[in-house]
Amino acid sequence: MTFEGMFLGGGDEVGRLGLLLKGRERRILFDYGMTATSPPKYPIPCPPVDTMFLTHSHLDHCGMIPWLTARYDIPIVSTGVSREIGALLMEDSIKVGASEGYPEMYQSTDVKIARKKFDDIMYGDTTTSGDLQIKAHSAGHIPGATMFEIVDDKTTLVTGDLHTLDTRLVLGAKPVKCDNLVMESTYSGRNHPPRLKTEYDLLKKVEQVVQRGGLAIIPSFAVGRTQELMLLLKDSRFDFWLDGMGKTVNGIYLDFPEFLRSAKRLRQALNKTNVVRNGRARGRAVKGEVILTTSGMLDGGPVLSYVEAIRQDAKSAILLTGYQVEGSNGRKLLETGMMDFQGVSERVQCEVMKFDFSAHAGHNELLEFAKACEPERIVLMHGDDREILAGDLRARGFEVLLPKNGEKFQL
Ligand SMILES: [Zn+2]
Repeated sequence: MTFEGMFLGGGDEVGRLGLLLKGRERRILFDYGMTATSPPKYPIPCPPVDTMFLTHSHLDHCGMIPWLTARYDIPIVSTGVSREIGALLMEDSIKVGASEGYPEMYQSTDVKIARKKFDDIMYGDTTTSGDLQIKAHSAGHIPGATMFEIVDDKTTLVTGDLHTLDTRLVLGAKPVKCDNLVMESTYSGRNHPPRLKTEYDLLKKVEQVVQRGGLAIIPSFAVGRTQELMLLLKDSRFDFWLDGMGKTVNGIYLDFPEFLRSAKRLRQALNKTNVVRNGRARGRAVKGEVILTTSGMLDGGPVLSYVEAIRQDAKSAILLTGYQVEGSNGRKLLETGMMDFQGVSERVQCEVMKFDFSAHAGHNELLEFAKACEPERIVLMHGDDREILAGDLRARGFEVLLPKNGEKFQL
């Protein structure tokens, strides 16, 4: 045995990830996040650990770091870009939590403490925690997303969120040979349409909306998705505007060009983007053709005031570009045609469509990736419905573990 493992969260669900691995000398933790639903969901309280490794800064992977570093004086190993994005999201989650009236898990001073604990790593670099050697690889999911390879008697690879196909923003992850593979399974049982087709369909729809005299609002996650869409829109002739937290993320991404597929292209995209910096610009944006803005699931952010402006205009459209989690305003809109504006549920008359710009590997890509890693054993995590993928992997001769949160397993 090399490790005894346990998911503190995110084992049998998508969200609030925390993976604890106990070795001979060391206890290490991979990710510690929260699910930003209302009310938010938190992982099991983490026992003392020696080192934490952060795969990437989405809130369900990094959101509980300040809670952790307020209790334990430990290093958080991650890429520099994940550190900066993480600090931004943690600060923002305090504001969101306060506005929604939920109990605080940490305060702004805890985020400042957390920030100082980060220890930067670059792809291809190896770091140590006690007797363990850990190497970083790109996970392809968003800029800076990392897979960690733990080199011991047996090699264990923890993927974090994984994307194996190239997108406009980042190149896909490459398989790493290992004995134990701990892999995400968000899209177990589901495949994505080809990205080029999705891009074409979105642009075609925007064109239609613009031609009939409407405004296309593209709600989009600030981290990754916004930049991916800017890179798509930069090659179009549309007059497009950007508002929300994506603006800050752009600046951080350009500070870390080594994690982008092409910093030059992102800079070009930014040059073509009309950035909303004040209320007056907001008024001009509504008269434009396309607005790219947060939040991606219509739960707060500038998107609400933009949607309010076109709510009753059948010529305009809301074009969703990401997964709409159960309980989100976006899911409500898709299912009922209604959505909440400051607590009041209203009917939306404009067109609503959803496009699959996922940054996660689909079912077949996960299968291919796992096969190419040639592991003895696979642990599936970060999935609501892991059984379908587990079945396909077992049929190919792999031993597959599906631990629930709080359940111990051996690697
Ligand atoms: Zn993610």
